[in-house]
Amino acid sequence: MTGKKQLMIEPSWCKGCGICVAFCPREALELMNGKVHLKDADSCVLCGMCEMRCPDYAIYLKNAEE
Ligand code: SF4
Ligand code: SF4
Repeated sequence: MTGKKQLMIEPSWCKGCGICVAFCPREALELMNGKVHLKDADSCVLCGMCEMRCPDYAIYLKNAEE
């Protein structure tokens, strides 16, 4: 069974480089006070691009039931 994924952000690991914001195909992310922030949860298609591009593992997908 494949569970639903959930977008996770670890603000303390985020250095605010904006890479994930730039690579998100849905423009669901933005920077707020130097940290990444999910601007529009409905736009996020859980593609994992942000996870792939973040150099600091500060944004990632996890299984919602974990
Ligand atoms: S999972 Fe994809 S759509 Fe969602 S925030 Fe990350 S890059 Fe954007
Ligand atoms: S790529 Fe990673 S460190 Fe850079 S803004 Fe996004 S979450 Fe933060």
